[in-house]
Amino acid sequence: MTDNFDIRAWLRKPERLLVVSGPCSVESERQLLETAEGLSKIKNVNVLRGGIWKPRTRPDVFEGVGEVGLEWMREAKERFGFLTMTEVATPEHVELALKHGIDILWVGARTVVNPFSVQEIANCLRGNDMPVFVKNPIAPDVRLWLGAFERLESAGLRYLGAIHRGFASFDNTRYRNAPLWEVPIELNRLRPDIPIITDISHICGCRELLQDTAQKALDLATDGFMIESHCNPDAALTDSRQQLTPKALQSLLNQLVVRIKNASNETRLQIFRKEIDIIDDEILSLIAKRMNVSEKIGEYKKEQKVAVLQMDRWKQVLDDHINKGVRLGLSAEAVKDIFEAIHKESISRQL
Ligand code: PEP
Ligand code: MN
Repeated sequence: MTDNFDIRAWLRKPERLLVVSGPCSVESERQLLETAEGLSKIKNVNVLRGGIWKPRTRPDVFEGVGEVGLEWMREAKERFGFLTMTEVATPEHVELALKHGIDILWVGARTVVNPFSVQEIANCLRGNDMPVFVKNPIAPDVRLWLGAFERLESAGLRYLGAIHRGFASFDNTRYRNAPLWEVPIELNRLRPDIPIITDISHICGCRELLQDTAQKALDLATDGFMIESHCNPDAALTDSRQQLTPKALQSLLNQLVVRIKNASNETRLQIFRKEIDIIDDEILSLIAKRMNVSEKIGEYKKEQKVAVLQMDRWKQVLDDHINKGVRLGLSAEAVKDIFEAIHKESISRQL
């Protein structure tokens, strides 16, 4: 815990890492205070988060404790000296959060996709000096993310931050929300004045991936983290697989290797190289995935007594890929070489 942490000054000049932590959902007074007490022993945690109204994917499940939880947040703030932060999705949420002394707001990924909702929140905050963070929308649309900042700025808000929480996709094998690091990098290019913190909890969806993902974010010069924590994660009412105990959070933070002290010390070249490493990882896992499908096709062909190499089909696939590649600005030769190599491996898997 840091005494008198000045979030407005940090948003203007994010010189050191901001760490926001606390439960996905505020569940009870006891759960919040016990979690906050654990977090208060970690010197790097500056802000206590707590979800009061939960945007759930499916209906008829726990949707947050509502207004009463805001008083528990106030209690945690008074006892342990944290700044408090919660998610708002409607003007009513904003009014209640202000009434109960919440220090910082964030607009969630599901709300940012809707410009009407963002505008309503902005209108409700007009003339207020509240610090507001905006999560990325669930689709990788940088302009929509930018638009949310612009709406808040037009309403006079001056202390804004971004939260990168990853992007939904139909087929996520590794991450709950694919990080697509190029998106926050693009936001940073367009709006270098807006600090970006990384919500590794919602990117990963499980505890096992948190450490590596936090390191990756740090290597890409993140300005801080949002990490969900809970005094008893397995019993959490929401997001139980991704929450850490305060002790585990401490250990994760201790293990981070700070390679980049400050984004301005890092050359663009190094940041681009990190980005390339991440894309290469994605290419490798996609190729592995493709080979798994190939093997299934191989089994099917065996059962049906079909020859492994269907020359006509392969010619057509290769032509399609070359055309698509050329439209994307690649050379026909490069696309041909890459896909012939992939096809060779695929055939040998099927044999
Ligand atoms: C959350 O932070 O608990 C949350 C609901 O996040 P997101 O908006 O990223 O889904
Ligand atoms: Mn959550």
